[in-house]
Amino acid sequence: QRIQQIALVTGANRGIGLEVVSQLAHRGIRVILGARDLRKGELAAQPLIEAGLAILPRQLDVTDQQSIERLASEVADTFGCLNILVNNAAILYDTWQQTSTADLALVHEALETNTFGAWRMCQTFLPLLRKSRAGRIVNVSSEAGSLAHMGAGTPAYSISKAALNALTRQLAAELAGTGILVNAICPGWVATDMGGAGGRPIAEGAAGIVWAATLPDDGPTGSFFRDGRALSW
Ligand code: NDP
Repeated sequence: QRIQQIALVTGANRGIGLEVVSQLAHRGIRVILGARDLRKGELAAQPLIEAGLAILPRQLDVTDQQSIERLASEVADTFGCLNILVNNAAILYDTWQQTSTADLALVHEALETNTFGAWRMCQTFLPLLRKSRAGRIVNVSSEAGSLAHMGAGTPAYSISKAALNALTRQLAAELAGTGILVNAICPGWVATDMGGAGGRPIAEGAAGIVWAATLPDDGPTGSFFRDGRALSW
């Protein structure tokens, strides 16, 4: 019998994260739905669980190391490994700011969640990903963080995503040969609370993330993609 895979998605009580949970679960993967507010996570998970999907809502604030460690020890005790980690949680699409005058406290906040949040998650869950022998780490990034395409605007967000891209490269290089693939994915402009109206459907944005989360063992690592096509860093 095939052993059921275990995935964990951060910031998954709404938006793209919730849709990634649903798409992974539809593939027969057991998915832990991370939400900083557990009640919101439970409410989001309820219709999916009622539809028969294997989804476990859990409290997870990526800025809080204790919250991360609590979940990691539960996953260790219950499953003994983690197959897929999707670092999706993010904040502060700061369209109102300019680099020359940005509120650096806000920049710091964005980095805490968007960059250090993912970094903390990787560090804490790496032992469990290693145990799966074929782990997948997906850092949900944005072309706003591409140095090749970076223009002015959204300084806190763009710089936090550029740093997330750098983290992706570094970690992928360090983990080369371990079976763990680490990639950064841009979902495109998606109609969520963050993206606002006019973006593409959430299911389309989530699909490229699910693709990276379910890459075969000989799949790419240390790369940046949108819809399965390479983007420049
Ligand atoms: P949303 O704002 O709709 O959702 C963000 C999610 O992250 C929410 O569930 C939120 O929880 C959660 N979150 C925020 N802070 C934390 C934290 N400290 N710990 C745990 N969870 C947290 O965003 P999207 O769904 O649009 O974005 C998902 C990802 O896609 C992000 O990484 C974003 O940068 C990226 N992206 C989105 C684009 C778009 O057009 N929408 C374009 C490019 C990239 P809560 O409900 O409690 O606030």
